[in-house]
Amino acid sequence: MGTGTTADLQGGPREPPAPTRPYRGRFAPSPTGPLHFGSLLAAAGSWLDARAARGEWLLRIEDIDPPREVPGAAEDIIRALDAFGLWWDGDVVFQSRRSEAHVAGLQRLLDLGWAYPCLCTRKSIAAANRRRDRPDDTSYPGTCRSLPPSAAKRTRVVRALTTSEPIEIKDRLQDGFTQVLEMDPGDFVLRRRDGLIAYQLAVVVDDYEQGVTDVVRGVDLLDSTPRQRWLQTLLGYPEPRYMHLPVIVQPDGAKLSKQTGARAVATSDPGTTAWQALKCLGQEPPAELRGAAPVELWDWALAHWSPQHLAGIRNIQMP
Ligand SMILES: [Zn+2]
Repeated sequence: MGTGTTADLQGGPREPPAPTRPYRGRFAPSPTGPLHFGSLLAAAGSWLDARAARGEWLLRIEDIDPPREVPGAAEDIIRALDAFGLWWDGDVVFQSRRSEAHVAGLQRLLDLGWAYPCLCTRKSIAAANRRRDRPDDTSYPGTCRSLPPSAAKRTRVVRALTTSEPIEIKDRLQDGFTQVLEMDPGDFVLRRRDGLIAYQLAVVVDDYEQGVTDVVRGVDLLDSTPRQRWLQTLLGYPEPRYMHLPVIVQPDGAKLSKQTGARAVATSDPGTTAWQALKCLGQEPPAELRGAAPVELWDWALAHWSPQHLAGIRNIQMP
């Protein structure tokens, strides 16, 4: 840096992050329901990884999709994290208050020619996929790539231009994960029909502006990572390190989630629940710590934190 090259000024792809950046992690739940056991696991894994590295840990509430939100859920999540002693640094960031930064990111992609307006409907996308003999495909066929910029006046939908180059995600736990975005999901949505900025773009802008170096989250989000990685490349942001933790599944194999009606994690006996969470994270807390206060458990866990026990594991049964 400091030479002021044209590439710097234009913000083209830059070098990968210096490995000396101090660790900064985050937990970024959507307030679509209370903290359940699966999200506690992700929070604890992310918190332990950050604290074991003597790093910072931020809490960001991803409340940018009002139609999916549950009133009071953000407060419930914050209260539960506090009860479990998973304390964060600085103020809680509400993503909904960061729309200016998200819109600036979108504008930058439009200016760089990496995003374009789209006039398609779900129906016209399905028809286009039938025409190219991919009737079951919901991925975007690129129909509006060549629309003139004036088309932007007729729609709020904006898509990212994707690449046919495979994007490989190196993960600390999961096998290399590769996607060819142009094939699947195709040019993805950055701004929705309702005018809201899409999750993928908001996450990328916020992680960058908050200086996040390490993303530790559930493996159910691995599928989003190539899209986020692509946006980071286009915007000239450094690549964070990724660690995708297993997710909790119910006996029928379904992922424990707010959508499947997962119950709020009980905060009445946080020590026992935290002990179970540590077991699920592949750690072996001593039996005598069962039921101890969470802070005591986390102290033990920080001294022994070894996430590599979870290598290659995607699902864990609900204890
Ligand atoms: Zn289109």
